Amino acid sequence: MNTYGRFPLELVRGRGVWVWDKQGRRYLDAVAGIAVCTLGHSSRVMRKALERQLRKLQHVSNLYRIPEQEQLAGWIRDNSCAESVFFCNSGAEANEAAIKLARKHGHQVRGIDTSHERGPLILTAHASFHGRTLAAVTATGQPKYHQGFEPMVQGFRYFPYNDISAFEALLHRCEAAGPRVAAVLLEPLQGEGGVNPGDVAFFQRVRDLCDQYKILLIFDEVQVGVGRTGRLWGYQKLGVEPDAFTLAKGLGGGFPIGALCVKASADQLKPGEHASTFGGNPMACRAGLTVASELQRRNLPAHAEQMGALLQNLLLELVERHPQLVKGVRGWGLLQGLVLQAGGPKAIDVVKAAMDQGLLLVPAGTDVVRFVPPLTIQPRHLRLAVKRLEKALLACPSPTPSAS
Ligand code: PLP
Repeated sequence: MNTYGRFPLELVRGRGVWVWDKQGRRYLDAVAGIAVCTLGHSSRVMRKALERQLRKLQHVSNLYRIPEQEQLAGWIRDNSCAESVFFCNSGAEANEAAIKLARKHGHQVRGIDTSHERGPLILTAHASFHGRTLAAVTATGQPKYHQGFEPMVQGFRYFPYNDISAFEALLHRCEAAGPRVAAVLLEPLQGEGGVNPGDVAFFQRVRDLCDQYKILLIFDEVQVGVGRTGRLWGYQKLGVEPDAFTLAKGLGGGFPIGALCVKASADQLKPGEHASTFGGNPMACRAGLTVASELQRRNLPAHAEQMGALLQNLLLELVERHPQLVKGVRGWGLLQGLVLQAGGPKAIDVVKAAMDQGLLLVPAGTDVVRFVPPLTIQPRHLRLAVKRLEKALLACPSPTPSAS
């Protein structure tokens, strides 16, 4: 179906931070499947691990115990605030599971009645992105993604990200006639919505209020989790622990997997209440285990932190050289956004021009160009990427002045 506005580029091969098109042209990949290919393309260790797993066992049902799944859940448990994990296949699905968990929490812990008008609410942020399934897209605080798909799922309310007083006002309105809010769902840093890092004071206040009201605080770590921000989990950048968090993208390094990770106190789901045929199958979990062991062996979160700092500096120099084109840089680790000047080229134009220079980038909204390369990227690649980006910026046609 015609659901993607695709670039006229056919990628046929990848190795490390490089991908090749059908004509044999090589591109430096700062997209990595949109923050997915943690270890780069076709890494030797991933190839070996998946080949071995394929020979051993590819798929069995969750009717049976799956040792690879237990090991991966064990790694998440040993290295995060979560105690248990539900595996699925994508970010949207992980958020769907989180939304079901939130509603169960609302009924069981907060005693919210189940009626149409008084059912549990989930509060989410403007400019958030939580996926495209019906509940996940309703949770997404961007009306453009709702248009044409109404009626949306009931039980969501929105507030401006990082705005404490707006959040408190909404919470008090929702709670005015008794318990109503089941959960707050937030990205520690908004990726798709413009690379907006969370504010520590805001998150701390939300945490306090959630504790006070016994509201579940859920973080969507689909884009920021698994080392990308320079810490293993995005919540560590904020120093605020969620009750539950979701993962996908980087966890499988290119193999589809998603996860809902919950603290013991938030673990509400019972056998039969949620399931996925493919979720946590041996192949997907082997991919996840390989990412996990490489993250640790190569200390990739610390590497992402260092490379992120270098990238930020290189981009800041670019801002200094071209203040009429670019305005600033924001982000954590290897999730960085270059903010374009109003009136200059749009993010999509820069992405297209960068492609002509042999560099893959992805927009985050209309005026931010996003870098989410493999966590294995090296300084020489970052220098080359920024050089190519500079050429691309200068090659972008200047926008025609408006008639007024
Ligand atoms: N949540 C966040 C923060 C995301 O960035 C994305 C995808 O970009 C999703 C959820 C949806 O993930 P998926 O496309 O795997 O369903």
